[in-house]
Amino acid sequence: MSTQAVARPLAGRVAVVTGASSGIGEASAEHLAALGATVVVLARRADRLGDLVTRIEKDGGTALALSVDVTDAAAVQAAADRVATELGGADLLFNNAGVMLPAPIEERGTDQWQRQIDLNITGLMNAIAAFTPQLVAAAAERGVADLINTSSIAAQNIYPNFAVYAGTKAYVTHLSRHLRAELGAKNVRVSAVEPGIVGTELQSHVTDEGALQWLAGAKESMEWLTPQDVAETIGFIATLPPRVNLQQVTIMPTGQAS
Ligand code: NDP
Repeated sequence: MSTQAVARPLAGRVAVVTGASSGIGEASAEHLAALGATVVVLARRADRLGDLVTRIEKDGGTALALSVDVTDAAAVQAAADRVATELGGADLLFNNAGVMLPAPIEERGTDQWQRQIDLNITGLMNAIAAFTPQLVAAAAERGVADLINTSSIAAQNIYPNFAVYAGTKAYVTHLSRHLRAELGAKNVRVSAVEPGIVGTELQSHVTDEGALQWLAGAKESMEWLTPQDVAETIGFIATLPPRVNLQQVTIMPTGQAS
């Protein structure tokens, strides 16, 4: 293998990252670009995406910012059409945008339930609908493509007051396993990544007092994962030989018990 291939193993690949304006998505976009991929960064905040593209380009990478609300199916499809026209299509989708709004179910915070379902499930499906044809086409042409969905340890474990969020993430994990069985035959690898607690903007949207106290305690009692820790896992998944599909990866802070 050439030095170039070792240093930039994703050269020639086109990676779309949703939720790329902060946290895990932002770090992953930078890491995938450093590994050689052309990255397409999607989120709503255009200014943040612009700064990210500038940073990636300064480091010698290639990036395209598309300011999109992933809950808008037509807007996501328009973004996918641009990726096809301008870059020849995506061969990696890191389907990562999400929101976590815990609260006791008896408070009936239906607006917050809906926001989580709309983004974590419908937004995820909008990206799958828009980009799966590109992934399948790329895999047929080049032998491999990747669909990596961000789930959560909440898909596996039980956390009172996190029922709706955990339910959306259980959907992501179970969906991913089914899609892997369906798309694997077409050389599209499907992975669910399930992080424990990662220090990002995710926690800043939480309004429930009990959950905020729990988070503050968790911050005191253990060292949280960083977005870069998850980004390196995404890079690892994408650079494995085409025959290898990490189906489900749980990545926990060492000090987080459950
Ligand atoms: P952040 O809040 O930092 O990132 C969320 C990203 O989603 C932002 O870039 C935000 O950008 C984007 N986003 C939100 N709404 C929309 C929308 N309607 N359309 C497009 N993009 C949107 O959190 P994380 O990085 O932590 O979260 C990333 C994923 O990781 C989520 O799916 C989360 O559930 C999951 N996760 C996080 C854990 C943690 O502890 N942090 C643990 C386990 C899983 P913008 O506002 O600009 O649109």
